[in-house]
Amino acid sequence: MAEQSAELSPLLKQATPVLAARGEGVYIYDEDDRRYLDFTAGIGVTSTGHCHPRVVEAAQRQVATLIHGQYTTVMHRPLLALTERLGGVLPRGVDRLFFVNSGSEAVEAALRLARQATGRQNAIVFQGSFHGRTMAAASLTTSGVKIRAGIGPLMPGVVVSPFPYAYRLGMSEDAAVEYALRELDYQFATVTSPQDTAAVFIEPVLGEGGYVPVPPAFLRGLRERADRHGFLLVADEVQTGFGRTGRFWGHDHAGITPDIVITAKGLASGFPLSAIAAPSALMEKAWPGSQGGTYGGNAVSCAAALATLDVIEEEGLVDNARVMGERLLAGLRGVAAEHSGIGDVRGLGLMVGNEFTTADGRPDTDTAARAHRIAADKGLLLLTCGPHGNVVRMIPPLIVTADQVDSAVAVWSEAVKEATA
Ligand code: PMP
Repeated sequence: MAEQSAELSPLLKQATPVLAARGEGVYIYDEDDRRYLDFTAGIGVTSTGHCHPRVVEAAQRQVATLIHGQYTTVMHRPLLALTERLGGVLPRGVDRLFFVNSGSEAVEAALRLARQATGRQNAIVFQGSFHGRTMAAASLTTSGVKIRAGIGPLMPGVVVSPFPYAYRLGMSEDAAVEYALRELDYQFATVTSPQDTAAVFIEPVLGEGGYVPVPPAFLRGLRERADRHGFLLVADEVQTGFGRTGRFWGHDHAGITPDIVITAKGLASGFPLSAIAAPSALMEKAWPGSQGGTYGGNAVSCAAALATLDVIEEEGLVDNARVMGERLLAGLRGVAAEHSGIGDVRGLGLMVGNEFTTADGRPDTDTAARAHRIAADKGLLLLTCGPHGNVVRMIPPLIVTADQVDSAVAVWSEAVKEATA
């Protein structure tokens, strides 16, 4: 295990034994200069790779020019330029923006906006979703009880409806969608009347809850119900945005337009920055002064985000995520076919999960943890997810090459072999 400080709170848990000294591209180096293939990307943040020269240069230049402007006190160019630039990649008409610092804050902000704009109170979320750790965001989160346990009472007005998780439900994808939409309609008939429902929050790929892509028909079913009942469809693109799924936005796979888009993580290559986007008619209904914060839209983060968007575009990272994602998925399916114990391998773009199950179909947390640890020992950094921690997920930087994907699959194959021996 990496060195620990006696003063560091024991409540922080470290997923890998690495003490990182530096990062470069898809690699992290420890203090002995041992190289690790980083298929965690800082939980899906360093999409342009560690310390991309363009991002480093933009941030260094901005640090020496203006670090903190404070956007409710003075405006600054990096924020204006970023707002305009994001307007060009957001769905048409969903392009009025403001900035905060983290995914959780952005989720809270979206909930405030949805409640103020609709005058309604309730929010619907799907079982297994992760929207953050702050109190309202935790109230919307059911990816695992560790986020909720011991901190209640949580915010009222949250309705949890089943997610179309075909593998766990033991259904075809079509049947799972039909079931989840039927249950959602039942919520409207029994728990939250449509006129009390402000918004539905959904991650286009269930992230912390197990890396399960949302079937496009489900997202379309939500869009149709949002239009019919007058509530807002909120896409939490914190983990899925900026090319991660092989399209610019996760919701692009379903061909729908959300009413609110929440972004963070991949937006600024590791600098804290998140954004909430919605149509102007919706933003106009929010109460001025009710949103924002001291550090929101930090000038260095905005400069890094502008460089990030340049890199995504110029290096074709959205396409690379799609192509490398398919390669990774095929390789991992090959590994699963050779070893019993991995019940499902699934993903969208470069968000891929390997679900470990016992012979009788129960979640196999122990084998997943073993494979994860052995992979780290062999130089491949991964994360686990899912309510039982039995899904090993791979989320490399979007700059990953075919050779790096193949090396990761080779190491993974060894790790699974040893973990299931
Ligand atoms: N929403 C989603 C979909 C996420 O994946 C995360 C973080 N894993 C969050 C919200 C919360 O973001 P943060 O940790 O920056 O608060």
